[in-house]
Amino acid sequence: MKLNEIKLTNPYLALPELCYTRVKPTPLRKPFLIHANRAVAQELGIDEEELWSEHLLEFVNGALELQGSEPFAMCYSGHQFGYYVPRLGDGRAINIGTIGDQHLQLKGAGQTEYSRSGDGRAVLRSSIREYLMSEAMHGLGIETTRALVLIGSEQQVIREDWEKAAIVLRLSPSWIRFGTFEYFAHEKKHKELEALADYAIAESYPHLIGEPDAYLHFFTEVVGKTARLIAEWQAVGFNHGVMNTDNMSIHGLTIDYGPYAFLDDYDFQYICNHTDTYGRYSFGSQPNIGEWNLRALMQALSPLISAEKMEKALARYNTLYAEHYLDLMCGKLGLESQEKGDREFLRHLLGVLQALSVDYTLFFRTLSRYEGDRKALLKLGLYHEPMSDWLDSYDKRLRKNASTAEQRHARMLKINPKYVLKNYMLQEAIDAAEEGDFLIVESLFDIAQNPYGEYPAFERWAAATPEESKNRKLSCSS
Ligand code: AMP
Ligand code: MG
Repeated sequence: MKLNEIKLTNPYLALPELCYTRVKPTPLRKPFLIHANRAVAQELGIDEEELWSEHLLEFVNGALELQGSEPFAMCYSGHQFGYYVPRLGDGRAINIGTIGDQHLQLKGAGQTEYSRSGDGRAVLRSSIREYLMSEAMHGLGIETTRALVLIGSEQQVIREDWEKAAIVLRLSPSWIRFGTFEYFAHEKKHKELEALADYAIAESYPHLIGEPDAYLHFFTEVVGKTARLIAEWQAVGFNHGVMNTDNMSIHGLTIDYGPYAFLDDYDFQYICNHTDTYGRYSFGSQPNIGEWNLRALMQALSPLISAEKMEKALARYNTLYAEHYLDLMCGKLGLESQEKGDREFLRHLLGVLQALSVDYTLFFRTLSRYEGDRKALLKLGLYHEPMSDWLDSYDKRLRKNASTAEQRHARMLKINPKYVLKNYMLQEAIDAAEEGDFLIVESLFDIAQNPYGEYPAFERWAAATPEESKNRKLSCSS
């Protein structure tokens, strides 16, 4: 399909008018293409040649409206660092229409009704981070929003310093946040709340349409999806960094990439967000915060559903999370079945990784080739003994596997990525991009799409993070 053959729809506009505000994008000066995602274009049915056309650039810059587009920004609120903010909304994202089940947004396309004191822009640095990381999440098999195109510009915007502005064309099967429900609940707009619940069910949980107790089942599904998503983050070592309720997806996918990080050395208490002084959103806090956020959603849904029934659904969260996390970790360890004591066995390992400051990703990748010779694994930590003790129990535990070591290795190499996009790697891409060189963006994009692959030219990125680049914190300013 050519761009001029696309016919966008706008299902969200069927909701009451309080849910959104119509707004046109404000194009950037001197835009240029940085990267386009062929895989996403193919999924949307857009011809590949279109990606390199002048039309595409105008379209992503908000200067060319496709057929059917009726741009708008969505209204929401949310709890930020535990405090309720009565109105947030898309302050710099503009929805431009839907293709199939994917809703397209331009992030950084100018001010909206909800910009408050912001300029409606996104800087190049944070746009590169979102563009690459959403593809990396997808490559790791974790549900996420995705991106079709990243453009840069010569237009400068002020943050701590002057920086160049960019736009990401991103897409998602849903942009509804916990905070979208919170807004209508706190405003006591129950008609809108109900309409939103019906819409969210149709969009994300269509099998519930017409079911008795559909709203309760809807909440139950969100509990389950959230538990699963956070278990996946923990297993892969991802710290989101800003789990405010406005950054939590009703669809249960990863949304709004800000000062996130992958773990370098395993550190349960790791905090990636520079402004998160007390570690509310630290790596180890994520599962509990997931529950806290679901409680905020529960409160927002209370005009529609009995609180007692929702409590019961929420009470399942911790078990669902723990079961899913254990499944994933057993997979990472190459264990074929689970048995009593596996939780302690895993806790033992995580304690060793933490105490010895072992690179989390590299450990599991190295373990994926373990055959009894411990040298490569022992080398990863500061001391040998604790790791050796754990390997004694691992050897015993492996004997319960029915498959051969080769079969286990093959399985583990498809579960344990060789590459994750650590912050120092992204920073290399950003530093070069700010000088007009996008080669590293391209390389990281390729790696992101298949993090289990071998890339001889980028072997150094598969090693432990260099000491001076470890545990960087990022600011929220973006
Ligand atoms: P975030 O931390 O990116 O999830 O943003 C939190 C809220 O601030 C959302 O309502 C955003 O739309 C808004 N926001 C962030 N940056 C800007 C900006 N530069 N201009 C306008 N609104 C912004
Ligand atoms: Mg956000």
